[in-house]
Amino acid sequence: MATRCWRRWHWSAWPRTRPPPAGSTPSFLRQFSTQEQTPQICVVGSGPAGFYTTQYLLKHHPQAHVDLYEKQLVPFGLVRFGVAPDHPEVKSYGAEDHQALGIPGEELPGVLSARAFVGWYNGLPENRELAPDLSCDTAVILGQGNVALDVARILMTPPEHLEKTDITEAALGALRQSRVKTVWIVGRRGPLQVAFTIKELREMIQLPGTRPIVDSADFLGLQDRIKEASRPRKRLTELLLQTATEKPEVKEAARWASPPRAWGLRFFRSPQQVLPSPDGERVAGIRLAVTRLEGVGEAARAVPTGDIEDLPCGLVLSSVGYKSCPIDTSVPFDPKLGVIPNVEGRVVDVSGLYCSGWVKRGPTGVIATTMTDSFLTGQTLLQDLKAGLLPSGPRPGYAAIQALLSRRGIQPTSFSDWEKLDAEEVSRGQAAGKPREKLLDPQEMLRLLGR
Ligand code: NAP
Repeated sequence: MATRCWRRWHWSAWPRTRPPPAGSTPSFLRQFSTQEQTPQICVVGSGPAGFYTTQYLLKHHPQAHVDLYEKQLVPFGLVRFGVAPDHPEVKSYGAEDHQALGIPGEELPGVLSARAFVGWYNGLPENRELAPDLSCDTAVILGQGNVALDVARILMTPPEHLEKTDITEAALGALRQSRVKTVWIVGRRGPLQVAFTIKELREMIQLPGTRPIVDSADFLGLQDRIKEASRPRKRLTELLLQTATEKPEVKEAARWASPPRAWGLRFFRSPQQVLPSPDGERVAGIRLAVTRLEGVGEAARAVPTGDIEDLPCGLVLSSVGYKSCPIDTSVPFDPKLGVIPNVEGRVVDVSGLYCSGWVKRGPTGVIATTMTDSFLTGQTLLQDLKAGLLPSGPRPGYAAIQALLSRRGIQPTSFSDWEKLDAEEVSRGQAAGKPREKLLDPQEMLRLLGR
């Protein structure tokens, strides 16, 4: 492990059982200073936001010294653990937690957060024991965003199409045994309010051996609204409508009549209760409140009509958005919005502290959004540095963090450690023709590093 390094990164394993201590000043601010000729900057989190912020700082301040910290044993955050394995070109999005549904029965076995499910097939150590039960016929995904489509696609894709991705072997094995034939993707609003994008929808429509189910009745009266919508929204809705109304060609008709798998969109349905099996041991269905829209366009609100509908299923995946978590009691946090209050990345009321990514603006946007936003935070920081607005005085930097880790008995791993683990993963993947076989067990990773 290099100590004072320039343009190199430190990876630190911060076990969940030992959260950073609460204190009046964030510990990283006590150790890092940005006023010297060689500003010392600490970036917490090595996902896309952390890396892009670091990249901007190093590129635009050649003397900057950036220490990049990560609680996992391996870097890249949700680039590694969040993006669907069959989307290697996207590799984006992240936050620490998922939004709870807040409905009765949410804790029943068979109800999972999409975040945990995504973590499971992507090899996130904390989700490696998830063991989702895929022995049921029907799964319901709540929410109509891109994460919902990612999860539906992984459930519906013939497993042989995933074999050459970096999906974990355990997840691939479970998907091979899966009996899930139908996936319902449920939204509380209508076709004009879906949160997913056209590319992801098109992929779903084209899934081999899988029939899309969209009800044309959901589009009644929408023609004028579609015309008024923005171009991307218009194209997306037209594709949905085309899917709802298109008749299969003759040669496809037989397959459509009894497809091996099907997925469908249910609109105007808000989750009300997870229904238990007769023995109360697991999920047997979901009760949905039928809704109608108040208002128009993106801002329209779903209000219950008073009708309800029960949808039988053996698996419920809640995909209603991600949520950032507070990092330390001394760092301001808005629990309602799930963000650190900030102005252009400057954390409100804490000089010298900045934020990027989903904790800055909320859990929306793809990797390009995070890149732009992280560059802006880097720019703000360097402007403040130039204007003399940052804390000054000598700070020990990584030396102090190293001493702290040592006092807590934590052995940090470094970038060169990651390179060793990376080589091991790549070599294990080669045998199966995969880009890598991810290591899932932190203890095994430490053993491989000779710890
Ligand atoms: P999202 O895009 O915010 O979608 C969340 C969905 O959950 C919406 O349909 C929302 O409906 C619904 N929802 C929220 N609260 C609900 C509630 N209480 N009850 C019922 N439904 C509720 O979130 P996401 O899918 O987690 O994606 C997060 C971000 O990552 C997005 O910006 C997404 O585009 C991005 N992402 C991109 C890719 C990619 O590029 N391939 C892949 C994955 C994720 P309302 O609209 O009615 O609130």
